Amino acid sequence: RIGTAALAVQVVGSNWPKPHYTLLVTGLCRFQVLQLLKEKPYPVAEVQQLDRLEQFTNGHKSEEELGELSEQFYKYAVQLVEMLDMSVPAVAKLRRLLDNLPREALPDILTSIIRTTNQEKLQILDAVRLEERFKMTIPLLVRQIEGLKLLQKTRKSKQDDDKRVVAIRPNRRISHGSITEDEEEEEDHDDVVMLEKKIRTSSMSEQALKVCLKEIKRLKKMPQSMPEYALTRNYLELMVELPWNKSTKDRLEIRAARIVLDNDHYAMEKLKKRVLEYLAVRQLKNNLKGPILCFVGPPGVGKTSVGRSIAKTLGREFHRIALGGVCDQSDIRGHRRTYVGSMPGRIINGLKTVGVNNPVFLLDEVDKLAKSLQGDPAAALLEVLDPEQNHSFTDHYLNVAFDLSQVLFIATANTTATIPPALLDRMEVIQVPGYTQEEKIEIAHRHLIPKQLEQHGLTPQQIQIPQVTTLGIITRYTREAGVRALDRKLGAICRAVAVKVAEGQHKEAKPDRAELGEGEDCKEHITEDAKPESISDTADLALPPEMPILIDFHALKDILGPPLYDMEVSERLNQPGVAIGLAWTPLGGEIMFVEASRMDGEGQLTLTGQLGDVMKESAHLAISWLRSNAKRYQLTNASGSFDLLDNTDIHLHFPAGAVTKDGPSAGVTIVTCLASLFSGRLVCSDVAMTGEITLRGLVLPVGGIKDKVLAAHRAGLKRIIIPQRNEKDLEEIAAHVRQDLTFVLATCLDEVLNAAFDGGFAVKARLEHLNSKL
Ligand code: ADP
Repeated sequence: RIGTAALAVQVVGSNWPKPHYTLLVTGLCRFQVLQLLKEKPYPVAEVQQLDRLEQFTNGHKSEEELGELSEQFYKYAVQLVEMLDMSVPAVAKLRRLLDNLPREALPDILTSIIRTTNQEKLQILDAVRLEERFKMTIPLLVRQIEGLKLLQKTRKSKQDDDKRVVAIRPNRRISHGSITEDEEEEEDHDDVVMLEKKIRTSSMSEQALKVCLKEIKRLKKMPQSMPEYALTRNYLELMVELPWNKSTKDRLEIRAARIVLDNDHYAMEKLKKRVLEYLAVRQLKNNLKGPILCFVGPPGVGKTSVGRSIAKTLGREFHRIALGGVCDQSDIRGHRRTYVGSMPGRIINGLKTVGVNNPVFLLDEVDKLAKSLQGDPAAALLEVLDPEQNHSFTDHYLNVAFDLSQVLFIATANTTATIPPALLDRMEVIQVPGYTQEEKIEIAHRHLIPKQLEQHGLTPQQIQIPQVTTLGIITRYTREAGVRALDRKLGAICRAVAVKVAEGQHKEAKPDRAELGEGEDCKEHITEDAKPESISDTADLALPPEMPILIDFHALKDILGPPLYDMEVSERLNQPGVAIGLAWTPLGGEIMFVEASRMDGEGQLTLTGQLGDVMKESAHLAISWLRSNAKRYQLTNASGSFDLLDNTDIHLHFPAGAVTKDGPSAGVTIVTCLASLFSGRLVCSDVAMTGEITLRGLVLPVGGIKDKVLAAHRAGLKRIIIPQRNEKDLEEIAAHVRQDLTFVLATCLDEVLNAAFDGGFAVKARLEHLNSKL
């Protein structure tokens, strides 16, 4: 229970891959542990200082008492030091210290210098009384002196400078007590030998073997206290652990793969079809050097989980590498070993984790790679993903090539826009669009609810979520393309029910109250459940006979709070100058209101809502087209003039102002919105539109039609105006969604306006024009 208090003066070392530190400490004094106060996260104890107290330091008395002993000790110490080579500065300093230091400090210092076993050192530490300490140290000194004498005799012929070595590492064979330390060192030595053996027997490439043997040779010569020792050792251990030649056997059977994919995921037919094709080719031709699959779609549509299913069908290990926010190329390729804290990149690390050389690596969020001063990680990925090059991928840390050609890479992204073109070129993009409401309901009932029930320890006999409730959650509590928020909401419901069930079980144990709950409507339980003070009452009511607990709209409101999203569409369209556009975002499609207002001014156009350049240009295009067609459509400014901008300022706003928006597809919406403003007519409240415009009034095709249509469907809109040339995209949309909607295919803005306003948008000017022609 006695220890040494010390001050850490220097800490050298690293934490990776195994913590290895060298501490330089200055001993202060002995102390004794009186009481251990806590052990975690680090021990805290009440201690008592045992030496270096007042009475010791200034007590000449004690020196006198110990006079003889200390004098004897001093003599031996001097004798010992003088046997060493005085020309070595450290020895000369030690000699000076002997004279300058107080005598009572000498036993501690000399014990730490001379050859002693750990046990002996501990005994000296335990000797709190000075007298005892002197008595115990003298024999050790004598032993050391004898040992040195013997050594000097045997090495007489040799030069004196050997003594320096002797001073630090006296011959261990002679000192009898040092067996434990011998063993310790031998153990370390054994470790290195073992490591060497492992290296020789491992199946690493020839080049790697050569490097490793060179390193192990260096390691053997290195003192262990050198920080580089740990680094080299870690390096060698990693080299041994890497799966140079270890792989799992593919068990690929297309029929089984189809079943696994179908079982794990509902819908996503296009994706599954492409994945099966990919796997089929792999089955027919081993070692496929095909393109890397990249799943692109909004969050929560199952990209990652399809990746996991692919690994499952192939019987391979799965490893996910999250690339979001990675901005340093050494994250991919590793640091050179010259760096402090250097380590291999994520690819090599992943291989070490899975322990085989043919896993499925999912490169998650490749679109969120960033560039920085530390280089471009996307460029580093190029080599990894190129089937022609990656058989000799060189991580900077390893510094030897590793064959990645057996690894199956799959990438995921939310959008292809931010993936560097060279990287995109190496991948085959498979779009994973968002789900329709019906698909979401199916996914919820087939996959999400059973999974949540299992996670919460519930059974279908305890909770019942009807499909209308799921639809309610989807429409009123989530607005997303994927199913992640839906999954979370279902989790919240399960938690609430778990409380009821657990309370019910508790009551079950008291049968006398059993009848209380019978006949109760369960929605009331949940209603009351929301009020903390009524929990005890409801607990009485929640009883086994009422199972399953039915989740209806009231229960939903109590558990999830008031609905987050309302069908606000009709309210917002009750004045001129508002139209609904359809936007595509990496998170899926969205409906977007475009608002316009006019005021007296000098013909300026103000645009707000964080618009990109393309969108600003669309706004200018729209205004120009309307100005040039003002007469035709009888559009006037406030003072009745056909010059729309005369004495008029226009302000166009795209709400959700915090989100940056860009792209040409809002063109038709802006035209419609302005046409409504200048004509004073309301746009139909159930119409949404998308399409690029030209100065001549043509409507050009745009992207993301499926996501946009799904968003409109989610929002309860009925009529959708899309460019004629986008007709082909409608085929991808599920039949039941198409049934609910009317599509207007427009080639020019006249058609758009006619469809957007009830009763069409009268083209009086054209009639006049025709008349005049006649
Ligand atoms: P992503 O990687 O696209 O952001 P995830 O793969 O993490 O999304 O999916 C989120 C959750 O949704 C997962 O728990 C997954 O099982 C579930 N999920 C998504 N799509 C489906 C589907 N079609 N069938 C079953 N579960 C799905």
